Amino acid sequence: MFIEADLHCHSLASSHAYSTVKELAESAYENGLKLFALTDHAPEMEDSPHIWHFNNLCVLPRVIKNVNVLKGVEANLKNIDGEIDLSEFDLKCVEWVVVSCHDPVIMPGTVEENTEAYINLMKRYEAVDLIGHPTTWKFPVDFDRLAKACSEYGKFLELNESSVAAGRSPKENCIAMLNACKKYSVPVIVDTDCHYCDIIGKVPTAEMIIKEADFPEELIFNRKAENVMKYLAEKRNITFE
Ligand SMILES: [Zn+2]
Ligand SMILES: [Zn+2]
Repeated sequence: MFIEADLHCHSLASSHAYSTVKELAESAYENGLKLFALTDHAPEMEDSPHIWHFNNLCVLPRVIKNVNVLKGVEANLKNIDGEIDLSEFDLKCVEWVVVSCHDPVIMPGTVEENTEAYINLMKRYEAVDLIGHPTTWKFPVDFDRLAKACSEYGKFLELNESSVAAGRSPKENCIAMLNACKKYSVPVIVDTDCHYCDIIGKVPTAEMIIKEADFPEELIFNRKAENVMKYLAEKRNITFE
């Protein structure tokens, strides 16, 4: 497998996804993963679970079906000030925070405005870990400024298999992002953003783009689950098995 940790996965708690947590864990193990993150949609998306879904994530065991489970969220960037749809209390209940732009929640702006929104997000929230699918054509950004800000605020950028495979993230954008990350030594996280269990951990299109961009393997943070576990042990004091 190209990655050992898939850090963006939806369960049927997001109603446009179709697998249970246990099914995701079973497939993750079969597909050779050591870790996956459950990241259902935060409240401003129409298909999101009730906020209690996130407040109660602690009831899930750390290990399910031989795989470590990280209890996370895919939150929504709401405005140019960088605000998201979770309170500071909600953020304390989750262990992994992906933030993405989705057009039912935020109107796409200019390159300047979209970039500003992401940078303000990074400044505002220590809890945010990863910018989800920043390569989508609907929300164009200045990758140079974005990668530079990630290196300053310690955030990751995502190469998202679902978004690339569905044509929402054009290859040129992905390559521009990878080049900027290379320039500033910003680690990239390659995820499936799966909505059905079978494909968890499988990132063939992203892998092809990475090869084409000649992107250094050591900057693909989740190639080794150990990198993610170490980061989370330091940031959130989480212990894994
Ligand atoms: Zn998304
Ligand atoms: Zn998603």
